[in-house]
Amino acid sequence: MKLFRADRLIDGCGGPPVEGAAVLVEGDRVVDAGRAADIGVPQGAEVIDAPPGGTLMPGLVDVHVHLAYSGQVAPDAFRAEAATIPYPAIALRAARFARETLAHGYTSVRDMHAPGGTIIDLRDAVAEGLVEGPRIRACGLGLTVTGGHMDQPGFADHMSFRDMNGVCEGPVGFRAGVRAQIKRGADFIKLNPCVSSRVDERLWRFEMTVDEIRAACDEAHECGLMVGAHTSGGPPLTAAIEAGCDTVEHAHWIDDATLELMVERGTWLVPTLAVNEASSAYVLGQPDAPALTRRWAERSESDKWERLERARKAGVKVAAGSDAGFFLTHGAANGREIELFVQGGYSELEAISIATAAGADLLRIDAGRLVAGKLADLLIVDGNPLEDVRILRDPGRLRVFKGAEECPRRPG
Ligand SMILES: [Zn+2]
Repeated sequence: MKLFRADRLIDGCGGPPVEGAAVLVEGDRVVDAGRAADIGVPQGAEVIDAPPGGTLMPGLVDVHVHLAYSGQVAPDAFRAEAATIPYPAIALRAARFARETLAHGYTSVRDMHAPGGTIIDLRDAVAEGLVEGPRIRACGLGLTVTGGHMDQPGFADHMSFRDMNGVCEGPVGFRAGVRAQIKRGADFIKLNPCVSSRVDERLWRFEMTVDEIRAACDEAHECGLMVGAHTSGGPPLTAAIEAGCDTVEHAHWIDDATLELMVERGTWLVPTLAVNEASSAYVLGQPDAPALTRRWAERSESDKWERLERARKAGVKVAAGSDAGFFLTHGAANGREIELFVQGGYSELEAISIATAAGADLLRIDAGRLVAGKLADLLIVDGNPLEDVRILRDPGRLRVFKGAEECPRRPG
C-alpha cells in the first residue's frame, strides 16, 4: 500500500480541492481519497509526502499527439521526417518523445497517425514495460483520400511510399482501410473527412464523400472502435458528425446547430488550441507566406476563441489535445493546451478536469480521477496549479506516478 499526502487534492471530478488530503493506493489502483485525517495511516503503508504547499492531482491526458514526429518548426518538416526516416528509427525516436511526454506529467496520450503504424508497437512496448512512456491509444495510419490531407502532393510522381499514409478510395476502400488498421492493432480510427481548401479561400470543404465517412464509421463502430476526424468546419463538419465521427479535431468553425447536435450525440470537441497558436505564429512570421495560408492563419487564430466560448455555453464535451509532434515539441509543449483553455474562459479547475478526467473518458482509460477504483496515475505538484496552471509545464516541479509506480524524472 502507498499513502500519498499533500496540502491539497484536485481529484479531477471538478469539485473544489480537498485541503489536507491523502490518496491511498493498493497495487495500481486508488482505494481511498479524501481528507488525510479521515484516511489515517494504514499499517504497513509507505507514506509519500508532497512538499509543503504541494498538490495531488491525476496524471495528465493529451488526446491528440503525433509521437512519430519531432515537432520541428519548418515547412513540411513532418512530411520530410515521414519520408526520410526508416520506420524502426521513427519508433526509436518516438520512445524518447514518449519518455519526455511522461516526464512532463502526461500519463496517457492518443496518437493520431504514424507512418508504418509504428506507435502501435511503441504502445505495446510501453505496456510490456520495455520502455518508459504514457499509456498510449494509437490509430495506426490515419485514413485519407488520394492527394488528401494526409497524402499531400510534393513528391515526384515516381516516388512511392509503403505504409506511410492510409490512402483509401470509395466506401469499400475505406471499409478495407479500417479493417487493415484493426488488423494492425489500432485502438481507434482516424479519418480526414473535412479540410480547408488549398486552392481557394474556402475555409472548409468535403474531402471524403458522406458515403465514405459513413462506411468507415460503421465499420469502426461495428468493431467497437471510436472514430476521430480531422475537420475544419461548416457543413462538411456537420456531415462528419451525422455520419458517426465521435471526436472532431481542430474544428475551427462550428455553428450553434452543430454544437447542439454534438451535445445530443455526445460528440467530443478537441480544439487543438496550442498547435493553432504555434502554426499561425509561424505562418504570420514569414513575410513571403502565400496569401491564402496567411489568411487561413489569421482567421483560424481569431475565430477559435468565439467558437470555444459558444461550445462551452452549449455544454459540448471538450478534451485537451495539443497536436504535439506538429509544430510543438513533445513534453514541454503539451501543457500549453491547458493554459489556452484558461485563456479561453475556462477556470483553472475546469481546465485541469478537461486535461485529466475528460481525456481519460475520451480514451476509455480507467484513470483521470483520483477516486476509489481508478488507476493510480497521479502527480505530486510542487505548488498549487489552481493559482497558476503554468507550473504544470515545469517537470522540475512534478513527480509522476503511473499505476502508482514513480516514473523517471527527466531523460538523462
Ligand atoms: Zn494532428
